[in-house]
Amino acid sequence: RIQLDQIEKRFGDTPVLKGVSLDIQDGEFVTLVGPSGCGKSTLLRILSGLEAADSGRVVIDDRDVTGVRPADRNLAMVFQSYALYPHLTVAENMMTPLRMRDLTPVQRMPVVGPLIARGPHRDMRKQASDVAETLKITALMDRKPGQLSGGQRQRVALGRAMVRKPLAFLMDEPLSNLDAALRVHMRAELSELHRRLKATFVYVTHDQAEALTMSDRMAVMMHGDILQVGAPDEIYLDPNTLEVARFIGSPA
Ligand code: ATP
Ligand code: MG
Repeated sequence: RIQLDQIEKRFGDTPVLKGVSLDIQDGEFVTLVGPSGCGKSTLLRILSGLEAADSGRVVIDDRDVTGVRPADRNLAMVFQSYALYPHLTVAENMMTPLRMRDLTPVQRMPVVGPLIARGPHRDMRKQASDVAETLKITALMDRKPGQLSGGQRQRVALGRAMVRKPLAFLMDEPLSNLDAALRVHMRAELSELHRRLKATFVYVTHDQAEALTMSDRMAVMMHGDILQVGAPDEIYLDPNTLEVARFIGSPA
């Protein structure tokens, strides 16, 4: 269970998050949705530990992780850009986080990390190939990211996150680099994966259609606040403000 408790953040004089609270249950697919600049990415980065809040707490499974560094929160962040190592194969990319876990800060540096990812390690290979099977990317394991399509890269990035068996997957607009048809396809795939893994997903998007189709619950954000949290049909049919209604496109 993930609890965001009264998170505040300002950049300079501008308040970007104004005391945001949100509870996410195990196994839920929760989307943070709202217009550009409302603070979605900032909130996700604070949850992952990549950014520090000015005040408020992040609690994961009853443990206050507010000051804890990202690597020790056991959450997997899947970026829009996928952030794959171009010179490593798909298999090596997927094993990188397993090796990273036991490294010193110097060894975690991007130049050194990939070197350590080379070399044999049977358990890791097994884990990576199990995940590859789930994601149907087994045939791609010896390719490099440059030899993959956008959707395949997306899957490899997801696979790398899955190999770590994280407490939750955090995704910031993971499909926005894909063309429209592939995006719709990957939406369905992610939903299906969520059903199968029963894992917790926190998914950021500015696309209300995406949020409406994928979420168990969606949190509608505007101007640094969550205006409404609920199941998609509930928010669609019973928006609590005109702003939410307009953004979601609710019937008048
Ligand atoms: P989008 O849908 O465009 O990705 P978002 O909801 O993810 O938007 P954030 O990236 O969280 O929005 O940004 C919220 C606000 O904070 C924006 O006004 C943005 O300009 C500002 N902001 C974000 N990061 C910084 C930063 N490092 N320094 C200063 N301002 C920032
Ligand atoms: Mg963003």
